[in-house]
Amino acid sequence: MINFAKEFLGEINFFEMKDTTIREAQGLVDEWIRTIGGRYFSELTNMALLTEEVGELARIIARVYGEQVSKKGDLRNTLGEEMADVLWVVICLANQTGVDLTEAFRNSLEKKRNRDRDRFASLRGETVSPQS
Ligand SMILES: [Mg+2]
Repeated sequence: MINFAKEFLGEINFFEMKDTTIREAQGLVDEWIRTIGGRYFSELTNMALLTEEVGELARIIARVYGEQVSKKGDLRNTLGEEMADVLWVVICLANQTGVDLTEAFRNSLEKKRNRDRDRFASLRGETVSPQS
């Protein structure tokens, strides 16, 4: 479990937040869990909830950008709301398993920068030399 300093969270005015860092988001979710939610659901429960939220996001995508036709109530939540729900559960899982998402994201971006340097060159209109 990541320990978020209380004084760090005390500086955040929830209603005046402009740009929230990933670290701040992890702290805000942790604060909500401690003060309102009571406790984290188990990792397995949260994994099921993540799947549920991804399904809700997929429902909107299929009806707005895909070929599925909406029925009443299908689009009561916005795309942004469902993406935020997915993010919320990912942050819960990160917090309770000790994952620093800022560090994990930086590492992921670095990996993709190196791995995919030439991968999408043709999409950028660049000529690609054959890989050795
Ligand atoms: Mg949802």
